[in-house]
Amino acid sequence: MFRIGFGYDVHALVEDRKLILGGVEIPHSSGLKGHSDADVLIHAIMDALVGALGLGDIGRHFPDTDPAYKDISSLSMLETVAGLVEKEGYALNNLDCTLVAQAPKIAPFLPEMNGNLSKSLKTDVNRINIKATTSEGLGFCGNREGMEAFAVVSLIKKDGDIKSVA
Ligand code: MG
Repeated sequence: MFRIGFGYDVHALVEDRKLILGGVEIPHSSGLKGHSDADVLIHAIMDALVGALGLGDIGRHFPDTDPAYKDISSLSMLETVAGLVEKEGYALNNLDCTLVAQAPKIAPFLPEMNGNLSKSLKTDVNRINIKATTSEGLGFCGNREGMEAFAVVSLIKKDGDIKSVA
């Protein structure tokens, strides 16, 4: 009836790339390197969703060798993954995720990110929780070499009879 998925992703920070997080372009001196728009938060979320469905990882669904995904918006990939969730007969119960970034300040952008995610996932904003933290200056996030993100999702079978589980 319920399925849990966990996702993790990391991307390097480089100059001359836009910084896109949760589908929001955030003004910053550097951006994340990647084949797509490198939205590390959405990548972790997609891996959690695909994982909950038992369908491998996003590399399997969106190969980074495929030119079709070059610089693609991760929000559009998230919509495709939401379609997979639907196709498998599940609905999102809730999503919780954490972005680790030393800079810039992410908090002002969280409501817009939440709105973007809920739109792509066709769900209520209150089913989605996004957290952002620094790593207190430690490690590759702390020294601004990159950013990482973690996500946990729970899915519920749409035609499931919860009572039968008890
Ligand atoms: Mg990635």
